[in-house]
Amino acid sequence: MSKKLIQPPPGGHPIRFEKGHLEVPDDPWIGYVEGDGIGVDITPACLRIWDAAVQKAYGGRRKIHWVELFLGEKAGTRTGGDYFPAETLQWMKDLWVSIKGPLTTPVGGGFRSLNVSLRQALDLYACVRPVRYYQGVPSPLREPEKIDVVLFRENTEDVYAGIEYAAGTPENERLARFLRDEMKATFFEGAGLGVKPISRFGTERLVRQAITYAVEHGRRSVTLVHKGNIMKFTEGAFRNWGYELAQREFGDRIVTEEEVTGRYHGRVPEGRIVIKDRIADIMFQMMLLRPDEFDVIATPNLNGDYLSDAVAAEVGGMGIAPGANIGDGIAVFEATHGTAPKHAGKNIVNPGSLLFSGVLLLEYIGWPEAAERIQRGYERTLADRIVTYDFARLMTEAREVSTSAFADALIERL
Ligand code: NAD
Repeated sequence: MSKKLIQPPPGGHPIRFEKGHLEVPDDPWIGYVEGDGIGVDITPACLRIWDAAVQKAYGGRRKIHWVELFLGEKAGTRTGGDYFPAETLQWMKDLWVSIKGPLTTPVGGGFRSLNVSLRQALDLYACVRPVRYYQGVPSPLREPEKIDVVLFRENTEDVYAGIEYAAGTPENERLARFLRDEMKATFFEGAGLGVKPISRFGTERLVRQAITYAVEHGRRSVTLVHKGNIMKFTEGAFRNWGYELAQREFGDRIVTEEEVTGRYHGRVPEGRIVIKDRIADIMFQMMLLRPDEFDVIATPNLNGDYLSDAVAAEVGGMGIAPGANIGDGIAVFEATHGTAPKHAGKNIVNPGSLLFSGVLLLEYIGWPEAAERIQRGYERTLADRIVTYDFARLMTEAREVSTSAFADALIERL
């Protein structure tokens, strides 16, 4: 392993994680990965905005000392072919908090998605996606301002666990024989087979993180979204384990929807968070028809994958949807779109997704004033109808600007 791939910054201090809490100095080291494709466009623009917002919010008292980390193509070039250097992983663990642009999944035999590998290597078990509306963003809904949800998607289990056997392989045939002969299961000949593990452990740590977030951010409800009517022992178990965890660990802070309608005659007791559940397919309808009934959402991996993209599309699409992958203390914030290779290096794309991932990062390290500045600055920039090409084509009388000019305009409005 080359010791020279990553350089510590000349100033600043590392973040520490002690007794379950992040200890963030005023001059923290924070890691960033530029990302492939449009990473070269959006990452420098966002770094300028984040630094300017911190400067404005704290008048020089606080400053992030960025540590450039390497993953994907930039890592491959520097190491002679290692897209996923162990040194970067170690730095991400030591730094606790990092942010990354999109990464190409190299095409060809044996490569897993770098993003999936990263989540597994660092045990980033919750994918957190806040989705809210910003005034002026083009949306297909009549009342997009009713959407303000935070999705917690389980990141390590479910059909994503990678336990799959292709039709026609000896492994598949062996498993098929076992299922038919010993478990008396019936299914068509030649079926591909996959396993969907969902555990109490995996469910509890995800739901715990979602409820803790709801408590810390004064949210009204946590909805467990599952398909337990069909998949009783995986999705249904997720629902049951979720309720049990809520009762056991947050009993004095929560109330179930059933208790609200029964014991409390429809009124939520003061200061309590409502725990409820919805079947996944109904949830897609609800998020279109009655989105203001939902707040924090906790759901297994596959539901969360579909639901988070669908909800993001309701308020402006993937170009601005932020994301974070969070484990115990450790967090990697990331743009939720891909590398958009046809736009790479042209300085035209929307930096919003990475930008708002940085807003989450600032909130995560306890610097909400800087996060707030960016949100207000973004709204002012949009109010002046200054946008990148993707929004310009959906708006009338928009002033279309480049990625870097958008960053300049936003910085002026911080
Ligand atoms: P993509 O998100 O890169 O691009 C799809 C389309 O969305 C683009 O053509 C573009 O029109 C639009 N778009 C995306 N980001 C935009 C932005 N910031 N501003 C404006 N428009 C934007 O998806 P893809 O083409 O399916 O994937 C390309 C590559 O990205 C693949 O290698 C894939 O593996 C990778 N990928 C990475 C991540 C990640 O790192 N988190 C996520 C998805 C895909």
